[in-house]
Amino acid sequence: MKDSNNSFWGAIAGQESEKLQELFVDGLKDIYWAEKHLVKALPKMAKAATSDDLRSAFEQHLTETEGHVSKLEKVFDLIDHKAQAKHCPAMEGLIKEGEEVIESTDKGTFVRDCGLIMAAQKVEHYEIGSYGSLRSVARILGYHEVAEVLQTILDEEGAADKKLTDLAESHINEEAAQE
Ligand code: FE
Ligand code: FE
Ligand code: ZN
Repeated sequence: MKDSNNSFWGAIAGQESEKLQELFVDGLKDIYWAEKHLVKALPKMAKAATSDDLRSAFEQHLTETEGHVSKLEKVFDLIDHKAQAKHCPAMEGLIKEGEEVIESTDKGTFVRDCGLIMAAQKVEHYEIGSYGSLRSVARILGYHEVAEVLQTILDEEGAADKKLTDLAESHINEEAAQE
């Protein structure tokens, strides 16, 4: 019975945390796969963008995403685990949605940019969900430095998401509505 702080922390330190540890490492492998594939997808999104400011937002986030890959490698290092990627079906699908936007919209239109922002924000939200949960689990497992690294990534994903909203609302949606 986990009815006192003592038995709770006892459980965390003992065998029960092994399962959580496993779940945590699996989650890291999943988001590592996701980030590595985003590094390949973002240049295509940047190239497809109509607006210069959306293109440079994608390019800036590409640089950040490359940083996320190396930060995750640091995290694997901190928990003494080999950096390993595990197929993330969700990110595969989200990237596919972005490709579908490019296929179904005309080059040089703001409707395309609007669609690219929608696809990119879905990606950011998947990442935000992943890093928020992983950070909290890292804390309970006692991986405080890891939790801090994950928080840094989470903050950048949050800022990227906000930037996309700002771009959409500052001019892209309005121009798309006039096409
Ligand atoms: Fe990321
Ligand atoms: Fe996933
Ligand atoms: Zn991101």
